[in-house]
Amino acid sequence: MNHINNNADDPSFFQHTLKDSFTCVGRGLHTGLKIVMRVTPGEPDSGIVFVRRDVDSRRSEIQALWNNVSDTRLSTTITNSRGVRVSTIEHLMAALYASGIDNARILLDGPEVPIMDGSAAPFMSLIRQTGKSQQAAERRAIVIKQSISVSDGDKFAGFLPSPVPWMELEIDFDAKPIGKQKLTAPLHEVVFEKDLAEARTFGFREQVNTLHKLGLAQGGSLVNAILIENDEIVNQEGLRFEDEFVRHKMVDCIGDIALIGAHLMGQFSGVQTGHQMNNALIHKLMLHEYAWEYTTVREASKFWRQIMELPHTDDELANEIMSKLDLHIH
Ligand SMILES: [Zn+2]
Repeated sequence: MNHINNNADDPSFFQHTLKDSFTCVGRGLHTGLKIVMRVTPGEPDSGIVFVRRDVDSRRSEIQALWNNVSDTRLSTTITNSRGVRVSTIEHLMAALYASGIDNARILLDGPEVPIMDGSAAPFMSLIRQTGKSQQAAERRAIVIKQSISVSDGDKFAGFLPSPVPWMELEIDFDAKPIGKQKLTAPLHEVVFEKDLAEARTFGFREQVNTLHKLGLAQGGSLVNAILIENDEIVNQEGLRFEDEFVRHKMVDCIGDIALIGAHLMGQFSGVQTGHQMNNALIHKLMLHEYAWEYTTVREASKFWRQIMELPHTDDELANEIMSKLDLHIH
């Protein structure tokens, strides 16, 4: 999705949904329950809506939006005004967002999205197999016009202006198999599918007992997570990427960004960030209206074209933009 173009019928200007429905069955990472999930097409402008089929239909819908986030311990949970919740939405949200699916209804017979293999890849391939359908409504965009950030000690998360949706993430863990890892990538469907989607959730043996006592990670196992014990990876199959950890964290960040409810036109930058900090960043962004503009992808694309054609713009910004475009093209 390159938004710097002049084609009036560019598909990236329009909302998309799924061509058809798909179903998957799996365990919930935290509840351990077996859950059937059916992902179905959604009406234009309806966004991503979770529907709990095991709950009274008058209160079963939960809109996947940042202001419905109620719990960020290990996974993202959203709750509606009637107190009905759905957990571990982030890998599915990331796959839908990266695939350019704006509208979908996700029917669940339990309180959690199935964890599958701990990565976004199963969702990505189901979305690919099902196909996308273009809708008449214009795709909504949030254009970042001024940088905004949150920080806590050595943790940081921020949004920066960028004509190309962009991700930058750094993690630093004491555990030897992880250490310091850094990744920079355009937020793009092909990059997501090839370089990010397969990266799995990870956890530490030392934390397993504590998590179980909190009622979390009941469904966690070596088939849906990388487990680290005494600085070693327990999983016999090893890693899918040498830096699988930062790749997975980037998937998580994309899942959190997807809750903004529009197409982010800007850069996300994170250091040691997680679901809680990412949600705090979106809250801060929404409060600082000077930092962003709610528009359409079509208009946002025009905005960036104008900025880039203007002579004597802020040198720093222009240089930053140009260097990113170079990276994007090559
Ligand atoms: Zn995750």
